Amino acid sequence: MSEKVNTETKHGDGGRQTPSAFDNARIRLDAVARKIDLPPDVLAQLRECKRELSVHFPVKMDGGTVKMFAGYRVHHNVTRGPAKGGIRYHPETDLDEVRALAFWMTVKCAVVNIPFGGAKGGVACDPSTLSLGELERLTRRYTSEIAVLLGPEKDIPAPDVNTNGQIMAWVMDTYSQEAGHTVPAVVTGKPLSVGGSEGRIEATGRGVVTITRELLLSRGEQLPNSSVAVQGFGNVGSIAAGGFFRAGAKVIAVSDVRGAIHNASGLDVIALQEFTQKTGSIVGFPASEPLDPANLLTLPVDILVPAALQDQITVANAAQVRARYIVEGANGPITPQADEILNASGVIVVPDVVANAGGVTVSYFEWVQGLQSFFWSESEVNAKLEQIMVRAFGQVRAAAEKYKTDLRTAAYIVGVGRVAEAIQSRGIYP
Ligand code: NAD
Repeated sequence: MSEKVNTETKHGDGGRQTPSAFDNARIRLDAVARKIDLPPDVLAQLRECKRELSVHFPVKMDGGTVKMFAGYRVHHNVTRGPAKGGIRYHPETDLDEVRALAFWMTVKCAVVNIPFGGAKGGVACDPSTLSLGELERLTRRYTSEIAVLLGPEKDIPAPDVNTNGQIMAWVMDTYSQEAGHTVPAVVTGKPLSVGGSEGRIEATGRGVVTITRELLLSRGEQLPNSSVAVQGFGNVGSIAAGGFFRAGAKVIAVSDVRGAIHNASGLDVIALQEFTQKTGSIVGFPASEPLDPANLLTLPVDILVPAALQDQITVANAAQVRARYIVEGANGPITPQADEILNASGVIVVPDVVANAGGVTVSYFEWVQGLQSFFWSESEVNAKLEQIMVRAFGQVRAAAEKYKTDLRTAAYIVGVGRVAEAIQSRGIYP
């Protein structure tokens, strides 16, 4: 059974009627706090973000004009280690969303037990409207604006929605120019040429597949011939879909921001990856028929992987979901209210804080390699990733059994429990 949630909006947000992303994060935190009797002072610390930086900065556009952009970098909690979290470029990114994403990073790093706290950053922009030069100037100026927070022992960004290895290389170069020497460990998800890790690009999607395999095994099932639908065909969605395809599952539907496609006998995902590399979208892929993107989420599949953005499964569509299992590739794709509906109808959900933790896990490996200037092979990286993901899933499952609860609540029990223990061990300064 899931926890009862309070849907009231809790903090000033300009009169928003529905709970914001950070409201939802707090709703889940409060529910877990009750379950594990979290001391009130620890809960109070975890309900707030430690540091929040909002910046407004100018960028010279190609036409000679100057445009102002808003950016954010938030540290939710750094008790267990330096702040870690991606940078997102999206028109709707705002401080509230970045707070929620930073909170999830705190929990996620603790669930997989890597020594980081939680952070996130973002710039409100639509990168599809920017030239490469504008994107570089925006990235460098944003990095410079938030550099006061960054550093290999302070805060280590990584890619997220609409950011990639090239953008991380610009972040690393800008920070290094200002430091006066090369600092590879200030950012992860970099290209191999500047100290990236083998296997980092694939890590999140690969982890999603590993976790799904473990989930099925725990229920006496296997990936081959399972049917899968994937929402989002970017870094996480396309790699996960490729992994499912190689493992013998049937990926029958995928979507991206431009549309969705369907093939009841299974899409050739490797050919689809090549197609999207050439055309920029899944739309128009041969051997498939178009699908209403909203319907992808309600297809009768074994496994549904939301791998696009948050708040995709809500009270509006949760009752129509016919997947047996949902594995959250994206961060926060299911609202707490939708979670209740899914739990009540017996849909098993593996939450983001474990399902998509493969990315931050290999980011941790990249950071370690960067600090030591000693690099591992792809098979070493993948073997260590597999070990951590399998261990984390096992610990979450064990907590679900012990507390007789769903996997999300169990993952929060594991993650929040570890952060709380660290907070109590360190005590309050002075
Ligand atoms: P990305 O930018 O590479 O890809 C996003 C994909 O979602 C694109 O295919 C885009 O077209 C699609 N999309 C956007 N809006 C959509 C919509 N309304 N319907 C269907 N598709 C839509 O981003 P990503 O790095 O793959 O991140 C996806 C999600 O995974 C985000 O929630 C992110 O926070 C999370 N995540 C990413 C990583 C990582 O390592 N990249 C790690 C953990 C979690």
